[in-house]
Amino acid sequence: MTKAKQIEKRAGTKPRVTAVKTRALRGPLAPERVTAILNALDEAYPDAECALTHSSPWELLVATILSAQCTDARVNMVTPELFRRFPTPEAMAAATLDQIQEKIKTTGFFRNKAKSILGAAKRVTEDFGGEVPQTLAELITIPGAARKTANVVLGVSFGLAEGVVVDTHVFRIARRLELAKGDTAQKVEQELMKVLPRDRWISFSHQVIHHGRKVCIARKPKCHECNLEPLCRSKDKTWHS
Ligand code: SF4
Repeated sequence: MTKAKQIEKRAGTKPRVTAVKTRALRGPLAPERVTAILNALDEAYPDAECALTHSSPWELLVATILSAQCTDARVNMVTPELFRRFPTPEAMAAATLDQIQEKIKTTGFFRNKAKSILGAAKRVTEDFGGEVPQTLAELITIPGAARKTANVVLGVSFGLAEGVVVDTHVFRIARRLELAKGDTAQKVEQELMKVLPRDRWISFSHQVIHHGRKVCIARKPKCHECNLEPLCRSKDKTWHS
């Protein structure tokens, strides 16, 4: 018997496997830890919903396009008048760029956003019969609707969990909670899709976005107010139990 075999025999393989499993269970992605995080989010944000005011998938699509680099509160200030003036994709498609720009000026990057909204209105009208499509593959062909926007519309308007919405809050907090390590929104989304049960993909994002606005804020998280604190080992923490 070779020396290596003798060592292997003495050490045995079972304890090594068990040790690996034990380490995995105790790691940041241990199922019981993920469940504890989800339970804590449920406790803190039982009714978390999308904060963008809308009354149809089309309005949500437009509001989500407008929300890039802008607060939801600001978007909610401009959309009532925008949708009053142009109530359907068809009506929006017939508008001029100037008319749309004038209504959304205060949301920032308004020229690009107006171009996206006009393009989206034309595409929805001409290629989807005036209805926002219900698949990710179709949605991401709409001007201004990248994967994040598509996930918002699918999740909120149609209750379809095709992916996880990763905005700036979800990106930051998923990494702080060690649920993801990726350095892009797309990588973080892929990691979250693996670690979260699919029936939590939609609510997780809503809850974490609320958490990011109220407690786990970017610059100085309010860890003393955070019910996730015992589960969090982030180096950004401002307080330790
Ligand atoms: S303990 Fe602090 S850093 Fe961790 S999730 Fe809570 S607020 Fe964020």
